[in-house]
Amino acid sequence: MNTSIFTPPEIPTVPIKGSPLTYPVRRIFCVGRNYAAHAAEMGNEVDREAPFYFTKSAFALCPSGSSIPMPPGTQDCHFEMEFVVALGAAAFEVDENSAMQAVFGYACGIDLTRRDLQAAAKEKRRPWDLGKDFENAALIAPLTQAADFGTIKDQAIRLLQNGEIRQEARLSDMIWSVPAIIAHLSRYYHLEPGDLIYTGTPAGVGPVHAGDTLRGEIDGLAPLDLRVAL
Ligand code: MN
Repeated sequence: MNTSIFTPPEIPTVPIKGSPLTYPVRRIFCVGRNYAAHAAEMGNEVDREAPFYFTKSAFALCPSGSSIPMPPGTQDCHFEMEFVVALGAAAFEVDENSAMQAVFGYACGIDLTRRDLQAAAKEKRRPWDLGKDFENAALIAPLTQAADFGTIKDQAIRLLQNGEIRQEARLSDMIWSVPAIIAHLSRYYHLEPGDLIYTGTPAGVGPVHAGDTLRGEIDGLAPLDLRVAL
């Protein structure tokens, strides 16, 4: 017997390239300031002692190929192109040498950010939720399995806005490597299959406008395409 007072929402899923199966999403962790040039453009110092995080609800996910309305409540919504890691196994208090065993695959993602609300929160030393965790704020393309992608090295990561390159860097520019992030996060959470990690954005972030097309690319991964409605 179904005892829920309303129909439970379906768990959000991400397509897997070359597979009829899908990847159900549990939690979304996002790394802040993981590229030195982006930290600098935001006027921040890079903290080299430890990475830091914020989270988004799985219900903030939005698949590639979508057309979304301009997010409400903001006059300055920014794109942040990111390399997304999808976990396929549990990890708790793992070290960097074994961290990659927990990885299922990777995807292109965009951490959509209401920059004005984030800046106001920073100013008042308040949490970032209004700036970071809102509907369609976690854009994601289909996953590529780790074995098909190969080793994370100096693959190019870029974002094009209406066909013009706005962000361009290399995955090797990340301050905290993927195994370092997983090992660090696993000291604070029992990481599980379905957990996604957005690994931070390179320099060149900027505002999204009504009518824009955004395309996110990382060498070896399925691209992310988004249209913002007029
Ligand atoms: Mn970000």
